[in-house]
Amino acid sequence: MTVYVIGHKSPDTDSVTAAIAYAGLKKSLGMDAVAACQGELNPETQMVLDKFGFSAPEIVTDAAGKQVILVDHGDLAQAPDNLADGELLEVVDHHKIGDVSTNGPIFFYTKPVGCTGTILKELYDVNKVDIPANVAGILLCAILSDTVMFKSPTCTDEDKKACDELAKTAGVADMEALAMEMFKAKSAVDGVPAKDLLFRDYKDFDMGGKKVGIGQLELVDLSLIEDVRDDLYKAVEEVKADGRHSVFLMLTDIMKEGTDLMVVSDDPSVVEKAFGKKLEGKTVWVDGMMSRKKQAVPPLQEAFGA
Ligand code: MG
Ligand code: MG
Ligand code: MG
Repeated sequence: MTVYVIGHKSPDTDSVTAAIAYAGLKKSLGMDAVAACQGELNPETQMVLDKFGFSAPEIVTDAAGKQVILVDHGDLAQAPDNLADGELLEVVDHHKIGDVSTNGPIFFYTKPVGCTGTILKELYDVNKVDIPANVAGILLCAILSDTVMFKSPTCTDEDKKACDELAKTAGVADMEALAMEMFKAKSAVDGVPAKDLLFRDYKDFDMGGKKVGIGQLELVDLSLIEDVRDDLYKAVEEVKADGRHSVFLMLTDIMKEGTDLMVVSDDPSVVEKAFGKKLEGKTVWVDGMMSRKKQAVPPLQEAFGA
């Protein structure tokens, strides 16, 4: 039976490349594994796969009747639909422990590192399987993306070490140039509908029984989205109106290393509770905020009493 290795909804570079790399490792260990993803690729991921010669994994959004391995997430809200009607074989992740559960024991491997790619590098090494050069290339890109070229507080020495080794294997001489190429692709917003921008990197969470969405746009300069700010706010309002208590959109300036946080909420006071600052109109600037996982989710969970 085919095993689908699959990343989270609104796939990002890590969730797609982790699926490809882990399916490759599992295949070389004798499993009938294929990579899958839950939607269209974002422009950064497309660039990365093109550069290293991979085509997009097949799209799978329903786990009913399937055997699956989850990578880069462990929250049901981000997993394929009907996971309970399929069989969860493994989880490999670097986020908080979410709410997936199983009836039997499984391989469940998470580490507090900056990227699933770093864990996959380790799993190749532990299993004594050589990482193909093109797989090393996409894993390197995933780590540079998730850690925002080592600037995110989620980044660890293990991530940096993995990058050094992967760059050698992939034949990448200039990591910084590769990262800038990715950030430019990531920052492409021209002509993209606001809702697509909001969902480009978006996650739903259950916080204290309330559905809370958090999107993030990482940009080399916030001036890129000045013209579409109002449209983005409308998109956030619409998504909020679709059964959510709150929706946050992190407009992250990669160069200034901070986030302009756009908020639509039934209870805007959670913003002050979580970040110690009041909304200034529709947004609030949070200096130093780069990471949803480490700097947005935990304080919000606490503010929601979760
Ligand atoms: Mg991810
Ligand atoms: Mg990741
Ligand atoms: Mg990210």
